[in-house]
Amino acid sequence: MLDTILNLDDNVEVIHYSKQNEQWDIILKLITKATSCPSCNCVSTRIHSKYTRRIQDLPMNNLMVCFTIQLNKWYCDNSVCQTKIFTERLSWLESYRRRTKRCEDVLRKIAFSTSCLQAEKISYELKVPASNDTLLRIIKNTFQWDVFFVFGN
Ligand SMILES: [Zn+2]
Repeated sequence: MLDTILNLDDNVEVIHYSKQNEQWDIILKLITKATSCPSCNCVSTRIHSKYTRRIQDLPMNNLMVCFTIQLNKWYCDNSVCQTKIFTERLSWLESYRRRTKRCEDVLRKIAFSTSCLQAEKISYELKVPASNDTLLRIIKNTFQWDVFFVFGN
């Protein structure tokens, strides 16, 4: 049932959750059986290894939410592809980010609506804590993406 409330994707299962220190700790498991290589789009079914990430999500019941998720690294078996091993891509989480996309979207809206020092205070009040440096980085990343997008067309 919590899987439905979280509404991440069909390959995510909640295997445990607990409330500790005014925070929900939710352990997620990926049940992906195959995934596409980001370089060549060939489908891989061979898992290379697993690694764990801690990810902040939007709050529930006015408490912070933190996911612990085990992600897979996969082999690309396409002999002409330069990528031999790749990490699984998720629709709701950018690579190398410590927050879900929806969590970062909320922080971006707060950061753009006021100063970053004020936004930091608001983020703590809303239980999506982020330092003003993090909020500045989110703004900077937004502009980098826009510039990339303009030149990409
Ligand atoms: Zn590949």
